[in-house]
Amino acid sequence: MVDKAHDPIIIGGGPAGLTAGLYASRAGVESVLVGKEIIGGQITRAELVENHPGFPQGISGFELTELMYQQATKYGLETITTEVTQIELKGGARSSTY
Ligand SMILES: Cc1cc2nc3c(=O)[nH]c(=O)nc-3n(C[C@H](O)[C@H](O)[C@H](O)COP(=O)(O)OP(=O)(O)OC[C@H]3O[C@@H](n4cnc5c(N)ncnc54)[C@H](O)[C@@H]3O)c2cc1C
Repeated sequence: MVDKAHDPIIIGGGPAGLTAGLYASRAGVESVLVGKEIIGGQITRAELVENHPGFPQGISGFELTELMYQQATKYGLETITTEVTQIELKGGARSSTY
């Protein structure tokens, strides 16, 4: 169990979480992304993603995830692979247990 204050804490390592992580870490705020299972979410199961801008030939969901992960962590985003089981607010700061 880890009990540590971050702001923001991003739960879920799918495209939404990785995007939030990219914005937070680029802005220089102390954020952490906590995701259960493999980072990447549902899109990792897509054989070919054909509707993502910038990839006219399409890209596999797994490759897309790898790129999202690389981009999100480039600016120092901390990531932890585990399930969030509880969320608590302590004195205005967000704290989660995982
Ligand atoms: C087979 C398949 C093919 C697809 N193809 C396409 C496509 O071609 N184009 C397209 O635009 N969309 C596609 N989608 C849809 C796309 O994958 C989703 O819209 C997208 O993944 C949603 O992203 P998200 O980050 O909101 O959620 P998710 O991808 O669901 O990610 C949420 C993450 O949060 C994690 N999580 C949940 N609860 C907890 C917890 N308590 N603690 C820690 N982690 C937690 C989950 O494990 C997951 O990794 C496809 C989906 C599937 C299943």
